Amino acid sequence: MHLKSLTLRGFKSFASATTLRFEPGITAVVGPNGSGKSNVVDAIAWVLGEQGAKALRGGKMEDVIFAGTAGRPPLGRAEVTLTIDNNDGALPIEFAEVSITRRMFREGSSEYEINGESARLLDIQELLSDSGIGREMHVIVGQGQLDAVLQARPEDRRGFIEEAAGVLKHRKRKEKALRKLDAMQANLTRITDLTSELR
Ligand code: ATP
Repeated sequence: MHLKSLTLRGFKSFASATTLRFEPGITAVVGPNGSGKSNVVDAIAWVLGEQGAKALRGGKMEDVIFAGTAGRPPLGRAEVTLTIDNNDGALPIEFAEVSITRRMFREGSSEYEINGESARLLDIQELLSDSGIGREMHVIVGQGQLDAVLQARPEDRRGFIEEAAGVLKHRKRKEKALRKLDAMQANLTRITDLTSELR
């Protein structure tokens, strides 16, 4: 599984439809300060379902829509499509290529699509949940975050790594199961006490 392409239309500084194609391996986006490099990363977070305007470096969600420049009027909607190569079947869907689209209108309404079919945010979250990508999975490490990871306490840093590797979910399930076992053990002890009292 790898990201194949990203198309932005009316998203932040990308007023005209712009498509970036990614090959397997490392892609570097270079450009002068303020040219929109971070906006590309914001677009990936947004299309994957990011709900917080702050995480997208804005004050309100509407700030993702092209706000206009001296020579170009503002637009009424933002749209981003992320296409993922799914030849290895990492996403639980019968398509070799999966496109996720998010669209937002200035009056606030939002739409999602999976391969051109209307979808809910929940459908997208479920589709991505075991893939290692998606919201809050630390797949996007913003400027300054790297320092935070490097300076984190060892146990917190281990948490980041475990979450990225998909271990955290199992650790949480294990902790829950152990708590249930403890409660069960306490019940068993209580029953043993009661039966010995009744004898
Ligand atoms: P740096 O190298 O300094 O981090 P960068 O290349 O990452 O810069 P971005 O932060 O991605 O740049 O882009 C900032 C630019 O995007 C600014 O010029 C800003 O005006 C523009 N921008 C952000 N939101 C919008 C919007 N809604 N409409 C129009 N332009 C926008």
